[in-house]
Amino acid sequence: MAPNGQDVAAVNRLRLWQHRLLFPLATGLGYYLGAALGVAASTMSEGIAIFWLPNGILLAALLLVSRREWPPVLLAAVVAEIAADLPAFTLAQALGFAAVNLLECLLAAWLLQRAARPFALDRLRHVVLFGVYALGVACGLAAVLGASIYTLSGQATTTSFWAFWAIWWLGDGMGVLLITPLLLGWLRGPAQPAEQRRLEATVLFALTLLLAIWIFSQAGTDNFPRRPFLLFPLSLWAAIRFGVRGTASIGLLISAIAITATLNDVGPLLVATPADTVLLLQEYLAVLTFSSLALAALLQELRERNERLRIREMELHATHDELDRLNRELEARVAARTRELQQANQRLEALASIDPLTGVSNRRHFLEQAGIEISRAKRQALPLSVIMLDIDFFKSINDRFGHEAGDKVLVTLADTIHAALRSGDIFARLGGEEFIVMLPGQGISEAFQMAERLRLLIAQNAVPDYPVHVTVSAGVAGLENEAEEIDDLLRRADQGLYRAKSQGRNQVCLGQGMPPDRLAGT
Ligand code: GH3
Ligand code: MG
Ligand code: MG
Repeated sequence: MAPNGQDVAAVNRLRLWQHRLLFPLATGLGYYLGAALGVAASTMSEGIAIFWLPNGILLAALLLVSRREWPPVLLAAVVAEIAADLPAFTLAQALGFAAVNLLECLLAAWLLQRAARPFALDRLRHVVLFGVYALGVACGLAAVLGASIYTLSGQATTTSFWAFWAIWWLGDGMGVLLITPLLLGWLRGPAQPAEQRRLEATVLFALTLLLAIWIFSQAGTDNFPRRPFLLFPLSLWAAIRFGVRGTASIGLLISAIAITATLNDVGPLLVATPADTVLLLQEYLAVLTFSSLALAALLQELRERNERLRIREMELHATHDELDRLNRELEARVAARTRELQQANQRLEALASIDPLTGVSNRRHFLEQAGIEISRAKRQALPLSVIMLDIDFFKSINDRFGHEAGDKVLVTLADTIHAALRSGDIFARLGGEEFIVMLPGQGISEAFQMAERLRLLIAQNAVPDYPVHVTVSAGVAGLENEAEEIDDLLRRADQGLYRAKSQGRNQVCLGQGMPPDRLAGT
């Protein structure tokens, strides 16, 4: 059964409470253990720990949650501090230490969150801020207060205020430096490639462990010189390959071994006085861990930047390819559309120039063609003539047999004329039952003969499906001089046609009453 909204809300509330309760409890427990360890690992009679780890835990806890969640965490830390201190100190002193430590962590967390949010130590800038704010300002200030408590509480010793200050400062600083990056790296930092490099990580860990033990277990000076700086390459290895998380872990491993050995009076860091020994140990570990952390953060930052650039480049490539594809698609579409338009134009052109009933040219197209032919004839001084034909008594065919029969007559007649013409001749329906033929290169006598031939052909032709025979009358005209245009030709051919009609139809006449004797030989 799927959980309903109420169940989900209840589960979320429970998780929130667990988080609100468990997180401060875990912090308090860690703080207590760190403090107990710190108190145990003290070399000074005054009880100043040389590695104060709890502040590193508290600072990490504060950096991991929002400021609203700070109060219970701080409360847990105070309780833990008092619990850890009471065996060795008075309650007043314990409260004083708690106040100083809390102040230190609060100041550091506030400064760091103000400067970088979320603060994850995965940038070089974060490591630098961490060094300045947490290790420098916060620990330095806390050390002033801590040293003051010692001085004012009258635990008079031979140690001066500033010597206290330095030990306190370095102790806090080392604790923070060792623990905070480790916790932030594991609890917040991005997953390291370490997961994919378990073997390498194991080898690095084992090598570090063995080498550190070998170096810090040196008892005398007569042995082979075991230098603590031999561990630097391993720390750098961690920085280069395993990010902040791996580097902090290796740093803690080396520190744990170095501190344990040195506090037990073995190892190469032992010098004349205990105070100098502690200082040398702190310096050594501070330089090792801080420089490796900075390198790890820088490399991580560069890797992330490279990755971002690579992704950006891929996106650009993809965009470019996509644009290219769209462009090609668009061009193809434009080309197809242009082809369609051209075809449509050709169809329109054809429609505009053809008579739909007979399929021959219409008047408009004829006039166009005729203009071209007349110009050519004039240019090349060639003869040119026209024959205008009109069906006789066509109206009566429509009347007697119907319009369809009339159409059939028109189609048959057009076919007959078309079949009789040469390829260079131009044939068109002028309108109604009136047709025209232009004969380029043909003089008036050839045109007259042609008209006669057409007249006879038509008169002999039967119309399919109808008991109809038609005759035509025709007028013929030829180009007579340079100045003539198509209108002149048409007008004279029409005059010829008119005469043919008026003289009884079914005959051919010349326009403008050209004397028949001029047509000698016809
Ligand atoms: P004429 O011998 O004097 O030419 O007499 P006609 O009857 O042929 O001449 P008229 O101009 O009086 O009549 C022409 C007829 O042609 C009138 C019209 O009904 C017919 N006509 C015109 N166009 C068409 C057509 O596309 N189809 C049909 N069926 N008839 C048409
Ligand atoms: Mg007619
Ligand atoms: Mg007519």
